Amino acid sequence: MKIKKQTFEHWTIDDSADLYGIQNWGCGYFGISDKGELEILGTPGDKNSGVSLQKVVNGIKDRGMNMPVLLRVSNILEARIKLLHQSFRKAIKQTGYQGAYTGVFPIKVNQQQQIIEEICRFGEEFHHGLEAGSKAELIAALGTLQDREACLVCNGYKDREFVDLALYACRLGYKCILVVEMPSELTLITERSRVLGIRPLIGIRMKLSTRANGQWTESGGDRSVFGLNTAELVATLDYLRQEEMLDCLQLLHYHIGSQIPNIRDIRAGVLEATRIYIGLVEEGAAMGYLDLGGGLAVDYDGSHTNYRHSRNYTLNEYCVDIVEAVGETLTAKGITHPTIITESGRSTVAYSSILLFNILDVTRFEPASLPSSPPEDANDMTKELMNIIKDINPKNLQEQFHDIIYYRDELRILFKNGRISLRERGIAESAFWQSMVAISKEVKRLKYIPDEFEGLDKALADIYYGNFSVFQSLPDSWAINQIFPIMPIHRLNEHPTRNAIISDITCDCDGKIEQFVDLHDERQTLPLHELRENEEYYLAVFLVGAYQETLGDLHNLLGDTNVVSIRITDDQHFEIVQELEGDSVADVLSYVEYNPAILRDTFKHSAERAVREKLITPAERKTIMNAFESGIRGYTYFER
Ligand SMILES: *Cc1c(COP(=O)(O)O)cnc(C)c1O
Repeated sequence: MKIKKQTFEHWTIDDSADLYGIQNWGCGYFGISDKGELEILGTPGDKNSGVSLQKVVNGIKDRGMNMPVLLRVSNILEARIKLLHQSFRKAIKQTGYQGAYTGVFPIKVNQQQQIIEEICRFGEEFHHGLEAGSKAELIAALGTLQDREACLVCNGYKDREFVDLALYACRLGYKCILVVEMPSELTLITERSRVLGIRPLIGIRMKLSTRANGQWTESGGDRSVFGLNTAELVATLDYLRQEEMLDCLQLLHYHIGSQIPNIRDIRAGVLEATRIYIGLVEEGAAMGYLDLGGGLAVDYDGSHTNYRHSRNYTLNEYCVDIVEAVGETLTAKGITHPTIITESGRSTVAYSSILLFNILDVTRFEPASLPSSPPEDANDMTKELMNIIKDINPKNLQEQFHDIIYYRDELRILFKNGRISLRERGIAESAFWQSMVAISKEVKRLKYIPDEFEGLDKALADIYYGNFSVFQSLPDSWAINQIFPIMPIHRLNEHPTRNAIISDITCDCDGKIEQFVDLHDERQTLPLHELRENEEYYLAVFLVGAYQETLGDLHNLLGDTNVVSIRITDDQHFEIVQELEGDSVADVLSYVEYNPAILRDTFKHSAERAVREKLITPAERKTIMNAFESGIRGYTYFER
């Protein structure tokens, strides 16, 4: 682990920008004002278009909504869609590609109505379409998408109802493509199309042999559960030829996984798929679309490497590599260039959502002070432990470190055997932590930090308690150790002097964040400011727009947070375009099958019994019932 030196005399906003890495992961959407407040930039990269997040938080509170809040910035979503299309257009021009590009948004990445509706609206000028992986997603797509030039790609297992709906969509003039994932789906599609008299648009999902390294890439490769292998593909072609439907086969699809950090894997996938595309054309299929699925990664830690939370390519490189690979391979064979489709989800929606929460409390790491000398009857090891601290220097760090741990462990055993008192054990533990603090200070001065000191920082960190639930709002942080950038939204012109980990308000020991972005590695603590008396301290978690909302769960019955969508205006103001109140206690209880009315009645009976037994007065019963009522109507998070 590498611990950076922080010996700044006068802390500036540039120091904060460096420390939290905004330039590395922010893609130009965020900045810091001279007042030290984090800003959302209405025009990416333009420092003079910013709106302070603190102002947004104040505005939300003035309107009566409490933290935590999931903030959506519609300008950023719009900018992401524009950027994707502009980058592909540029690459097409630059490489002389003869076909077009079109994008579809995979609904599963963020199914929220407002997001899908905005994607359709912002995407209209580019004919950006949708990808549905289930019946429910197809229905959401058909009820939202109105642009009939946009593609509607249907993946996932399909039953008759799903196939029929997609065929009806074709009848209505939609470019609704049924992608065959399993050989058995093909007979269902041809049968239903014959019955309904609608010619289908058919795509085929291939299993590529190309495998990508990364977190979420198991859905690619030979053993992936989705898609056809080569033998099945050939059988499919024969079947379609026999049914005189080769003209319906227009799209080749593959998806080697989400968050592909290495451009080499992306290039290998495209090349393999292009070869299959050539094969399909040579077999007489109509073709016209090559759909590369998702995988375009988000640089969560800003390191620009092939680390699993990053990517070693820019969006421009992604586009050029794809367009060039497809174009050159097909030109060599004299085959018409297809429309390239990508199903970018993560990269489209991650940036536009920000989780905001306040800090409720802090447990400072501060070992108790020691008596000036050991008690007379103290064990020799206690005395040693108290003395070591005077003799810690850069040359003996490792040796002292081991001795300290040895004495502490031995003294614990003596305590368990009744050989030393509770008070002496207390002194020993304090001496242990005091020495660790002294060692940690020395370690920070070392040029090379030995492995064994890894974790020392975390052990000595403060705990900042945040008003949110990891399980509800950042499920990937808990489930797969996904890293998200986190930082304070204000006081960025002050030196953050504390090192902290963040705990949520679930009572689960997994409900915490102790991995933070760093250019070289992951840091285990996050520098934060001292809390001030009577002043809220706000943190923001960035890049949470993809996958987090629907994967979140009701651990400890902490429900959906409030959601506020804003639009940044040209005059550096913001307006709230939509607000959704989060779950109330009654809401989350009904999700787990309670009936709030019955709960109220049962509690009322208990209160009435207490009146009968003269434990409370009737007036007290009223107060108690009111508290119960307002509890059941209230927000599931901490309210001040
Ligand atoms: C999940 C998924 C996507 C989205 O992938 P991202 O990496 O988020 O862009 C696209 N296509 C299919 C078939 C998927 O299953």
